[in-house]
Amino acid sequence: MYIILFGSPGVGKGTQAKILSEKLGIPHISTGDILRDAIRNKTTLGLEAKKIVDSGQLVPDEIVVGIIREVLKSEQTKNGFILDGFPRTVQQAESLEHLFNELNISEVFLIHITAHTEEVIRRLSLRRSCKQCQAILNLNEIENPEVCPICGAINSLYQRHDDEESVIKDRINIYNITTFPVLDFYKDRKKCLTIDGFQPIEAVNAQIMKELKPD
Ligand SMILES: [Zn+2]
Repeated sequence: MYIILFGSPGVGKGTQAKILSEKLGIPHISTGDILRDAIRNKTTLGLEAKKIVDSGQLVPDEIVVGIIREVLKSEQTKNGFILDGFPRTVQQAESLEHLFNELNISEVFLIHITAHTEEVIRRLSLRRSCKQCQAILNLNEIENPEVCPICGAINSLYQRHDDEESVIKDRINIYNITTFPVLDFYKDRKKCLTIDGFQPIEAVNAQIMKELKPD
């Protein structure tokens, strides 16, 4: 089963991708992760990406698509994948469409997880990261915010710059302007499912599973 997970920052795509990956037995392909893997494994494209990242620039679409191509051609995705974090622009969606055609990948589901902007801002502004173990946690679920519940480090939890309210608002604006139009691009090309992300994690997941496998 081939899935593209789509939705604004903070809507819970990463969390759903992990659960779906386990339930469906197909890998979660996060573009951030595969880019870091390619750099760490020093693949040809990884080395090229590293040069660009080191010079402080954004990795161009051709390289990201190239790295996605390598992953989609590999054994690990032969039964499907869950793509998370890509495409973020209509141009990227077009490149991905070429790639799907080239690799004979059809029957792709687009799962659009929706949420209200205020809820997304509220959720993301509660997010904390641990300097010690890199865990990402929710302030609501931590008993003592001075101690990391994962590794026990003291005073190691901090708010990433990306999760500050003003930055979140900017990210959502960028999403609305450049990413949201991707939905229109896919409307007639893919099976698009719309899922209400304004529900508990398990309920969101149950709804996705029901839509994917209606019987
Ligand atoms: Zn920790």
